[in-house]
Order: sequence, then C-alpha cells, then structure tokens
Amino acid sequence: MNITIWNENYGETHDEEIRATHPEGIHGTLAGFLREIPGSKVRTAVLQDPEAGLPDDILNSTDVLLWWGHIVHHLVPDELVEKIHDRVLRGMGMVVLHSAHHSKIFRRLMGTTCDLRWREGCYARLFNLNPAHPIASGVPENFELGAEECYGEFFDIPAPDDLIFGSWYDSGEIFRSGCAWRRGYGKIFYFQPGHETNRAYYHPVVRRILQNACLWAAPQVFRSVEGSPQLIPTLEEIRAGKE
Ligand code: ZN
Repeated sequence: MNITIWNENYGETHDEEIRATHPEGIHGTLAGFLREIPGSKVRTAVLQDPEAGLPDDILNSTDVLLWWGHIVHHLVPDELVEKIHDRVLRGMGMVVLHSAHHSKIFRRLMGTTCDLRWREGCYARLFNLNPAHPIASGVPENFELGAEECYGEFFDIPAPDDLIFGSWYDSGEIFRSGCAWRRGYGKIFYFQPGHETNRAYYHPVVRRILQNACLWAAPQVFRSVEGSPQLIPTLEEIRAGKE
C-alpha cells in the first residue's frame, strides 16, 4: 500500500510553537506512525515541492492520500484538485484531516460548503459511535483526547455513509468528528483531531484510528468479467460502464 501524506507545511515554517510540536512537520509526525502499518510505503509531499507536491507519477501511484491544510488552501492549483478528484472516483482512498475540512478537494468531493462552528482552547473527549466499523477496530468506547480546538455543529457535509466518531467538548459543543463516505470506487474518511499546536497525532488511540483508516481506504482489487485483475479502473472504463 502506497501512502502519500500531503501537507501545506505553512505553520511549521512560520511559527515556533508549531515547529516545536512537529519538529519534522505535521507530515513527518504522521509518517512516523503510518510507517508502522505492515506492507506500507509512506511518502510525504508538501505544497512547496514542484507541482504542489503531487506530480502525476506520485499521484498515480498513491493508494491512500492523507491531506492536512489550513490557511493556504487557495494555493492548491484547481487542475490538481480535479486530478485528485478523478483519482478518488477511480478508487484512491483519501483521509482528510482537521482544518482540511475547508480544502478545495474535500469541498469538491462533498459538494457542500463544509463550514462548521469553531472555538479555541477546549478539552475534547471522543466517542466510538460505530464499534463494528473497521476504522474503530481497537478503539475504546470513549477516550480523552485532551486539549483540542473545538469544531461544532452544524457541520455542512452530506450525511456520512458511516458515522464513526463523535466529539464532546467542555465548551458544550458536539461534533461528528469521524465520518466516512464512498465516492465512485473511492473511500473518504474525515477526522477532526489534529490542530497544529495540539498533540493529537501523538495520542496512541488517534494513531490507531489513522492506521485503521489507511487500511480501510486502500483500493479494492477489481476483477473484470474477462478476468484480468486491476487495482484502479480508468475514468474511461468507469464511464463506459465496465467494472
Ligand atoms: Zn486547527
């Protein structure tokens, strides 16, 4: 399974506190524990790399793409967003993290504003709302996340195909913090924790959830009626109605 972690990499290069929390960037923190997935090959890509980090050869060899962005969503080229969208429809998995709820690609995949209510400096507890779901494997009934930025309802997303986690904040808000959808042949998971100055990605249960999410989102192997297995059909094949 080829995992590519994409990060806008802005805060890490402009803010001491974020650099202190993620010395190798948020992508580096994520890569550290996603590499523990047996059989995974993990690459990282940042906005500042050539072609915004995702030239065709990298995108087209990615099984699961993780996306972290916050304040420079507008710098991601529209053509790249369309390429990622097409690849998700063809079977690539996508894990959308925290403030990437407002990324171009997530809004494109959802078709809604993905707006939400927001508040700083809260304490969060997550609840496992779907214990039978593969992404919830090994996750307790609920767990304390600790300090985390608060995202609140109403979260303007289409009804998830699977609602897996819910968050409660000491400020009184609740939030659908772990949601999954299918789009075409692809699978998408949105997960709320991961504010840049908090330590969610060091939490053992969060790490387990994101490892589970990569395994769940990886493309299925399709077998055409002619019998040749293929990992990802071409867009032309999907449009022609082939499986
Ligand atoms: Zn944040």
